[in-house]
Amino acid sequence: MSDCVFCKIVNKEINVNILYEDKQLLAFSDINPVSPLHLLIITKKHKTSILEMTTAELASLRLAIRKISEGTSILNAGFRLVNNFGKDGGQQVEHLHFHLLAGREHLWPPG
Ligand code: 5GP
Ligand code: ZN
Repeated sequence: MSDCVFCKIVNKEINVNILYEDKQLLAFSDINPVSPLHLLIITKKHKTSILEMTTAELASLRLAIRKISEGTSILNAGFRLVNNFGKDGGQQVEHLHFHLLAGREHLWPPG
């Protein structure tokens, strides 16, 4: 989608620091971090909901988290993976993405 900020990142029209990339996904730092580590893992294809994810994309998501966390304290300390969907989910960017949050304790329930 031409007016989608994450599509622009996928198309390299907006520069980000890419921390993981494969055929399905891209991971980079959130522009407005809320945790010491705050990455966004996005699908390369524009889709809105986790329910549209393919099996290959789901497998890549697991691999991406494993590769990103390998050799870091995250594996022992833990992390939070968040997907916001729709108005009630608090989704602001309507391009499927997962927030990978780590480096501090995260409270529950969320706001
Ligand atoms: P949502 O509320 O949709 O789950 O989260 C969207 C996230 O995208 C927010 O945390 C916001 O800071 C991040 N974001 C929005 N625009 C950009 C951008 O241009 N670059 C980066 N790196 N992150 C962005
Ligand atoms: Zn998009």
